Amino acid sequence: MTLIPKSHPRRKSLLIREKLVNGFDNGLVAKEGLLAQGRGEAFDYLLGEKTNKMAKTAIRVAAAQILLADFPVISVNGNVAALCPKEIVKLAKTVNAKIEVNLFYVNEKRKQNVIKILRKSGAKEILGVDKQSKTTLSGIDSARRIVDKNGIFAADVVLIPLEDGDRTLALRKAGKIVITFDLNPLSRTSQTANVTIVDNVIRSMDLLIDASKKLSKRNQMELKKIVEEFDNKKNIAKSIIEIRNNLLRRARFA
Ligand code: ATP
Ligand code: MG
Repeated sequence: MTLIPKSHPRRKSLLIREKLVNGFDNGLVAKEGLLAQGRGEAFDYLLGEKTNKMAKTAIRVAAAQILLADFPVISVNGNVAALCPKEIVKLAKTVNAKIEVNLFYVNEKRKQNVIKILRKSGAKEILGVDKQSKTTLSGIDSARRIVDKNGIFAADVVLIPLEDGDRTLALRKAGKIVITFDLNPLSRTSQTANVTIVDNVIRSMDLLIDASKKLSKRNQMELKKIVEEFDNKKNIAKSIIEIRNNLLRRARFA
């Protein structure tokens, strides 16, 4: 572990980066996952490295949407397993969702490592493991079209943090309600999902757990109202404007 001074202005960001690097060293994260993190970091910088109002709104809607689901599933890839495995397990318990391991760059060893960390974090049931229950989503040619027929295939609501655009589109085409965490408001995943949380998953996963706990006391009518009043496209647009405003502020002081 590298020593990052407490006073370092990018300390938090560097600590997150370190989690990814450790994840890579421990066979959880793919090389491409490190690059995806880098792209995310750039947007995080532009967003001011904090959870904004729009992300908080989307988190509340995401919680309502998961609580309304008959069969919610959380999809876990290498980056998510390296960043927040405990939170994934906690969220799954809070909202009664299944956990499915789904790697973009398929590699049996890495999959086993992801399963191991999820188990260590308290997961009892993990889908996407049993070869017998494999099936495919149509509309994508990557190995990620493979899903578990008892998991994502059967789900009505899927939470896909840090997901690729092709797969998000395939899930929407398959009729799923898609929730994502994605720092890039311009990515295809952000633009295609039903509920897009434009924030660092490491900051906002806990907020989603809290919102789910709070909203679990509400009735279905109230939850439906929260979902119906939300406009994802408008909410994403506000994050893009926030980036523009942050840039303008910086340009003025330059
Ligand atoms: P798309 O396929 O949706 O067009 P992409 O090809 O640019 O996007 P991918 O590698 O497919 O990117 O998806 C990873 C996404 O996850 C990126 O948009 C990246 O910004 C985002 N991301 C990376 N790290 C984090 C993080 N810690 N929290 C939230 N989002 C992240
Ligand atoms: Mg992509």
